[in-house]
Amino acid sequence: MNQPVEHPSTPVLPVAKRGLDLIRDPLLNKGTGFTERERAALGLRGLVPPQVVSIDSQVNRVMENFHRQHGDLDRYTYLEGLHDRNETLYYRVLLSHINELTPIIYTPVVGQACSQFSTIYRRTRGMYFSADDVAYFAEMVSNWPEDNVEVIVVTDGSRILGLGDLGANGMGIPIGKLSLYVVGAGLDPQRTLPIMLDMGTNNAALRDDPLYLGRRIPRLTGPAYDTVVEAFVRAVHARWPHALIQFEDFSNDQAFQLLERYRRQVLCFNDDIQGTGAVTLAGILSALRITGQTLSEQRIVFLGAGAAARGIADTIVAGMMAESGISLDAARRQIWTLDSQGLVTLDRLDSLSEHKRPFAQNSPPLPDLLAVTQAVRPTVLIGVSGQPGSFSETVIRAMHGHCERPILFPLSNPTSKSECTAEQAYEWTHGAALFASGSPFPPITRGGHLLVPGQCNNMYIFPGVGQGVVSCRASKVTDTMFYVAARTLAGLVGEDSLTVGRLYPDLTLIREISVQIAVAVCELAFADGLAGIERPADLETFIRKRMFVPDYVSYAV
Ligand code: NAD
Repeated sequence: MNQPVEHPSTPVLPVAKRGLDLIRDPLLNKGTGFTERERAALGLRGLVPPQVVSIDSQVNRVMENFHRQHGDLDRYTYLEGLHDRNETLYYRVLLSHINELTPIIYTPVVGQACSQFSTIYRRTRGMYFSADDVAYFAEMVSNWPEDNVEVIVVTDGSRILGLGDLGANGMGIPIGKLSLYVVGAGLDPQRTLPIMLDMGTNNAALRDDPLYLGRRIPRLTGPAYDTVVEAFVRAVHARWPHALIQFEDFSNDQAFQLLERYRRQVLCFNDDIQGTGAVTLAGILSALRITGQTLSEQRIVFLGAGAAARGIADTIVAGMMAESGISLDAARRQIWTLDSQGLVTLDRLDSLSEHKRPFAQNSPPLPDLLAVTQAVRPTVLIGVSGQPGSFSETVIRAMHGHCERPILFPLSNPTSKSECTAEQAYEWTHGAALFASGSPFPPITRGGHLLVPGQCNNMYIFPGVGQGVVSCRASKVTDTMFYVAARTLAGLVGEDSLTVGRLYPDLTLIREISVQIAVAVCELAFADGLAGIERPADLETFIRKRMFVPDYVSYAV
């Protein structure tokens, strides 16, 4: 009954390995899914139990074991074990249980996994570039067997989620993010490469941990740091000139500088800045489909002025300029940012970090969010401060006093850091808030009406943008690509979702969303002369054909 059926359309591929070598290669292994013919011809007889099992039946077994694990960290470790044994099955499981499993392989559970990375470590995955090895970087890239790497996710572990400096333990982030690339947009797992750039760590507890696997030195800074990054970028770019490099979870000071330094030299972007910008703009555009207003009409206040705030603000500005043709300055004047010192104003210019300056307002000092809310009368309030409860009842009621449908996005993660809960936002606005958050909140019924809070999850954007730029071999990733991705995503939210205030589509639609974003990004790359291939006649079919589908292929026997 469980026998796998080989459809006439099942691709048949040659395979160079046999026997245990084949079983031990996670990219080729099928475990109990090897057919009788394959077992006979490839030296597998007797090496696997006699039952030949379909992939869907294997998925059921995995989920049964998954549910037996005690606690989320064990669930993460169990799934990573499968990742290391059988990648096709791992991705099949993730795709078929996406809403349940993405919080395990990525936020929030990946945070726990990174904290414990050196303890739960079992088997290597990806590459480690340590400052000690800088003279060998150019040789080290040849140790990686794949010639066609398409996406690299790299971190220096300096700002892992909200957990700070986790040194080499941050490797869990590139691994998790690349799993999302494969699940979300069908990047070929074989062509993905997670990388840890080990610059040391300022986390003394880690340096003293006998199990810690990274370098036990204080973090490099200044020119020493820059030299290592430069050697790294040159080495990977020389070996894989078309690969996309995604910078991930770098501390603020480095994140902006690296993006500025490399965005015109190599195909790269920073998801904490640009991906966050696009997914948040998409949510705002969905909300505006409900209110019927334009983006340029909005007065937007940010609590927090870090990487996420800057990325979101820049993307909104790009959106306003594209939508209504207003100038850069006029668009920036619609945005007010607050840091821990209050409103970011021109008076503070001398002491402001570079990334805060473009949004400094010509205003008298305003000490806190309530004062800014009263003075500015925002229509959109975005929380990227990591300060739980800072969207207080007084602030939200004050905002609702002048704004019929307040757009409220408390984005700080995890849930415990959210600036307010969904329930509070709906309660204090009598159900009028248009709400999305960084971490998920359950739906709420209010006065007989269902209200579904949206989750502003970067996963809606970066896989599709990544698939788009590597598919057309774009020479660079532009801000306009992120704006187009946001617009595409907002356009895919159905009317039925908007009716219940839901500003993002269901994650189960992620592959379809990514196809549309990838097509839109490619269109733009071709229009702007950035694409490195001839334009395919049918872009959508071209993208779909490139997508990895987690089905077993038949091995030619
Ligand atoms: P960051 O450290 O770069 O920025 C935090 C900012 O908050 C800083 O500007 C800091 O000055 C400000 N801040 C601190 N205390 C404050 C206070 N009391 N009042 C006002 N401002 C204060 O961090 P980041 O990368 O910008 O991320 C911020 C938050 O956004 C995190 O919690 C992160 O999880 C969340 N985030 C969510 C998404 C998403 O939902 N898709 C994406 C990225 C980041």
